[in-house]
Amino acid sequence: MSVFEHPEFDQHESVHFIHDADTGLQAIIAIHSTRLGPAAGGCRRWQYVDSKAALTDALRLSRGMTYKNAVAGLNFGGGKSVILATDKAPKSAALFHAFGRAIDTLGGRYVTAEDVGCSVADMRHVRETTSFVSGLPRSGASAGGDPSPLTALGVFLGIRAATRARLGTDSLQDLRVAVQGVGNVGLNLCRLLHKAGAQLVVADVNREHLTRASSELSLKQVAPDELLYSDVDVLAPCALGNVLTSQTIPKIRAKIIAGAANNQLATEQDGARLAARDILYAPDYVINAGGIINVAHEYFGNSSEEQVVAEVGQIPLRLDAIFAESRETGEPTNIIADRMARRIVAAGKA
Ligand code: NAD
Repeated sequence: MSVFEHPEFDQHESVHFIHDADTGLQAIIAIHSTRLGPAAGGCRRWQYVDSKAALTDALRLSRGMTYKNAVAGLNFGGGKSVILATDKAPKSAALFHAFGRAIDTLGGRYVTAEDVGCSVADMRHVRETTSFVSGLPRSGASAGGDPSPLTALGVFLGIRAATRARLGTDSLQDLRVAVQGVGNVGLNLCRLLHKAGAQLVVADVNREHLTRASSELSLKQVAPDELLYSDVDVLAPCALGNVLTSQTIPKIRAKIIAGAANNQLATEQDGARLAARDILYAPDYVINAGGIINVAHEYFGNSSEEQVVAEVGQIPLRLDAIFAESRETGEPTNIIADRMARRIVAAGKA
């Protein structure tokens, strides 16, 4: 199948296939749109079933970044890269140097940062061969560094907006929240929720991550395949995408879904399935924009952490507007958010 016939191809401006013989690097960089600025979106390193699955991920995630950056009001278009994790191409400085060189050939049309499977240390290596990278260690009081605490903050504030809209309260005391995945974002989110008095149920497929979370916080662990169906008020997917499907939605007991994972809905229709069950869905790319807001401030420079936190504080306001429109019109929240994003992109300015 060619890229153009791919079901997730959505007028992407360009898709680049990278191979480096020395390191074995295989990567895909998908540039969905540069209409609002350089196509920005993190780099995911993942063990895909095959390269077709990697392409699907890159195409979907890059479109999501266009929408995310537009709704967040950033001067960024949307792009994403995926590195195929294989035994032949282990993580190394040389691998990320090769990846950086590939980004550099695009002359600034794509700006990367860390996503699942990549760290600040990896981005430092990328920085050695290109300047089109963000998510680097912070210097002094200026914005930058690991974006996940800011993503977690946005999700936390978004959960409060959702409880206000669906449960009529913004107190999180004794709110029951199930968090799927206690990695970079999930753990930071758990910390904030715990401090606010919420009761946490968590699952992770990585034992080390679970141990790290449970040694620090009081939480209940459940098996990964039970987590989605926990008897809780809020479900916060913070692992991978495609968790909300025609199979899983009928069994979900939470009244609110609000988490960090990208592409939580397997298909657009799954938004309507959630609405039909009166489950309030916080569109993923609206609620999880905290990290890219941090990345944008770092990349364009001259910002303080305080300014980033203030901008992340706008996320719940955007959600309030989406929830209110959904209440008035009965339209699913994902449809309202997509329309909002497309309108901003079409206007050509965030
Ligand atoms: P991460 O790799 O640090 O954490 C993901 C965690 O999910 C890991 O601990 C992993 O073991 C776990 N996991 C994977 N499959 C699971 C399953 N089936 N059940 C339970 N746990 C599972 O990644 P992250 O940076 O925390 O990102 C989490 C999600 O949020 C991703 O979808 C990412 O794209 C999205 N996101 C992250 C950021 C950011 O700032 N890091 C920003 C926006 C969106």
